[in-house]
Amino acid sequence: MNNNLQGLLEGVFGKDRVKTSKEELIAYSYDGFIKECLPEAVVFPLNTEEVAALVKLANTHKFFLTSRGSGSNLCGSSVPKKGGVVVCFTKMEKILEINKEDRYAVVQAGKILEDLQRDLEGTGLFYPIDLGSSRIATLGGSVALNSGGMRALKYGVTRDYLLGLKVVLPNGEIIKTGVLTRKNVVGYDLNSLFCGSEGTLGIITEVTVRLMVKPKFTKVLLNHYQEIKDACGAVNEIMASGIIPTALELVDNLVINAVEDFVKVGLKKDAAAFLLVELTGDPEQVERDSKEIEAICKKYNPSRSEVSKSAEESEKLWLARKSGFGSMARFKPICIAEDLTVPVSRLAETIALIHDLAKKHGVLQGLLAHAGDGNLHPHFLLDNKDEEHKADAIMDELMPFITGIGGTISGEHGVGVGKKKFLHYQLFGAQLELMKRIKKIFDPESIINPGSYLD
Ligand SMILES: Cc1cc2nc3c(=O)[nH]c(=O)nc-3n(C[C@H](O)[C@H](O)[C@H](O)COP(=O)(O)OP(=O)(O)OC[C@H]3O[C@@H](n4cnc5c(N)ncnc54)[C@H](O)[C@@H]3O)c2cc1C
Repeated sequence: MNNNLQGLLEGVFGKDRVKTSKEELIAYSYDGFIKECLPEAVVFPLNTEEVAALVKLANTHKFFLTSRGSGSNLCGSSVPKKGGVVVCFTKMEKILEINKEDRYAVVQAGKILEDLQRDLEGTGLFYPIDLGSSRIATLGGSVALNSGGMRALKYGVTRDYLLGLKVVLPNGEIIKTGVLTRKNVVGYDLNSLFCGSEGTLGIITEVTVRLMVKPKFTKVLLNHYQEIKDACGAVNEIMASGIIPTALELVDNLVINAVEDFVKVGLKKDAAAFLLVELTGDPEQVERDSKEIEAICKKYNPSRSEVSKSAEESEKLWLARKSGFGSMARFKPICIAEDLTVPVSRLAETIALIHDLAKKHGVLQGLLAHAGDGNLHPHFLLDNKDEEHKADAIMDELMPFITGIGGTISGEHGVGVGKKKFLHYQLFGAQLELMKRIKKIFDPESIINPGSYLD
């Protein structure tokens, strides 16, 4: 990097919070996807004013900025696609306010989701967004991707809890969006526009989220099935029953084997799938719903059924699901974690198609699914990055089917660079042009997160 830029950055952040050595930059050149792009520098702001000063510098001296939380996204949206400076939020992790009376929290954008949850312990409140990556993901990153996660079935996604944002616009201006009430119809809904925008419209420095009263009681049911169609039959009937589980998760045989070899929780390794159902609420209601769900699950011939009798047992059953992603690393060095969503009634045939296509293209595949939402995560396991074309070939055959039945090519991971090549299956013509025009209004010089699908 040129000395002039380094000097300018150090003028805002001091020497300690500007990284420029090759070794340090490599750590910020990739995220949860397989693409790598080296930045020229990484800076670590402490507050909104520093971010605004940085954006002004970028405008004056014409360099690119890419925001980054923990880099856990799975679509390559935090890699600095055109180089420039990475703005990393890991030092902005303060809680600015927890309001118990009106149930909201104001936090800096780099706050880790699980840390927020921990800080809320003892208040009787919780933040309902629970990602497979909650231990590492930041509030800012999860807002920028409108992350969903495992409890979205009952509680919804990040957007549903977003009350307000503090954002530095691409011209350096600071704005505050939203109000402290859930209802608000004054003007365009800018919270929702920033949420899911993949950091292309501005840099989020503070987030105000709604909190919920923590449920008193939890029960987890785990059913193994020898046929995927039986597991999906149970999902459909549960969803039609009127009961809304907190989570309704499905994993396939490859993941069962990966998990069992890794954490040894006693899973049935010959099962085609297991279905995990979590119910939360007051004890009587949960017991009643649990009996009904148990009866539904039984109708579809489970080869084994378990119901947790304590919080520890619930945790143990969850471990089988939560270890899924990490366990698959045992099979191959490269994992592309895909993300698509279909109407729930089409789950069984979509899963069958994924399995058929993976076989046809010679790719090892393990599936994790937020089944109640129809949200599927096929994981394509590869020997090296050069095999990416095999995963692409599967997606090219899968995507027309997904969009043809009213589904989406991404339910929660985003487009990034990973899905850019598949975008045309879902987004094109006037709708895509409109989005590009919105980007231009916010960022006419294309300074923020350049190289996205909007370029
Ligand atoms: C094991 C594992 C499990 C996962 N489970 C889930 C899951 O259950 N559900 C789910 O939805 N996702 C999941 N993910 C994906 C990922 O963790 C989420 O997308 C997460 O919200 C990203 O947060 P992050 O802080 O790592 O953001 P990053 O990856 O750093 O960034 C994500 C995007 O947000 C932008 N961004 C980051 N900070 C800011 C900011 N302050 N202002 C503006 N833009 C910003 C970046 O430019 C980028 O476009 C999982 C990932 C892994 C590795």
